[in-house]
Amino acid sequence: MKITILGCGTSTGVPMVGCDCRVCNSADPKDNRTRASILIETSGSRILVDTSPDLRLQSLREKIPGIDAVLFTHTHADHVNGIDDLRGFYLIHRRTVPCYGSQETIEALCRKHSYIFTGAQNGAYAPLLEPHAVSGHFRLLGLMIQPVPLIHGYSPSTGYRIGNTAYLTDCSGIPDTSHALLENLDVLIMDGLRYKPHPSHFNIEEALHVVSQLKPGRAILTHLTHEVAYSDKSRLPRGVEFAYDGMVID
Ligand SMILES: [Zn+2]
Ligand SMILES: [Zn+2]
Ligand SMILES: [Zn+2]
Repeated sequence: MKITILGCGTSTGVPMVGCDCRVCNSADPKDNRTRASILIETSGSRILVDTSPDLRLQSLREKIPGIDAVLFTHTHADHVNGIDDLRGFYLIHRRTVPCYGSQETIEALCRKHSYIFTGAQNGAYAPLLEPHAVSGHFRLLGLMIQPVPLIHGYSPSTGYRIGNTAYLTDCSGIPDTSHALLENLDVLIMDGLRYKPHPSHFNIEEALHVVSQLKPGRAILTHLTHEVAYSDKSRLPRGVEFAYDGMVID
């Protein structure tokens, strides 16, 4: 299994429009962050986690030839608003692909983006996604996927554990019942946002506390704002890294 960080940026992306700060002006390409998403590849199949507003650019950059399934973490705009960019893949492969999320997420997607799931009444365009609400673990393209319920401020989000790797973007709390799903991880990719506290995201200090509890082999902080320079990595403890766009985890 191979994971590519398609985007590790917060909702605004980095650089952020209108901003003149040191990170938004950085010459380091690792400070250039598109909106949060990952690609999971296994024996020729590709699973996309979230459809970020930068999906088209991410797909071109990583030369993604097609998508076989989509997992949704929640319905905030920075995780969903690239959903229409799946149409390019449909035009090549002519295949409606399954997508998965919590009951709440799937219902909200079907409500807000109904045409994605139904196609056009007059047949002018086909449905792109087939919705599946999931709570417990399920098999997908030869992988066992475990949804991990998370707290994201006043709303829930869903993390996903695939084998010994977990992707927990957009969270400010991990319920006790979810802790049990996160034991013995080789790789933990999780929300680290920024240094200052935030009501609906772990900041770096809080993320490091979670890492010290879960003790994964390797921890990668994502969903980063322009407060964080990639070069700040020297301040992180051993075994913890910042994600960057295009980062590959084998
Ligand atoms: Zn987000
Ligand atoms: Zn900035
Ligand atoms: Zn969010």
